[in-house]
Amino acid sequence: MKMNSLCPVCKQPTEIEVGFYYGTGYVSYALALMVCGISFAVWWLFIGFSLDDSRFFWWLGFNAVLLAIMQPYLMRLSRSMWLSFFVRYDPFWKEHAIDDKHMDRIVPEQMGNW
Ligand SMILES: [Zn+2]
Repeated sequence: MKMNSLCPVCKQPTEIEVGFYYGTGYVSYALALMVCGISFAVWWLFIGFSLDDSRFFWWLGFNAVLLAIMQPYLMRLSRSMWLSFFVRYDPFWKEHAIDDKHMDRIVPEQMGNW
């Protein structure tokens, strides 16, 4: 569950303030709903649903296991998306230093404390 505190390529800090990733839960929730929707559609296409048997409940179990397996990927993807909402891509990042307007909000002793 550990993540880089700096981008290994451009050295952009990934946690730009205390509690920064608190809001990433909303992104993660939306991604999880998308996974559920896709899993539901694929199950419906290949296995189907019926009121006469327990296929729906098998899908619920399958979907729960699928979400548990995908959680580390969804967490990282949602954190990357959340960070990209706040830090703009700089096409000339190699030529000048990281934009340090966020640096004063980084409190090293409070990192990961949320
Ligand atoms: Zn980078």
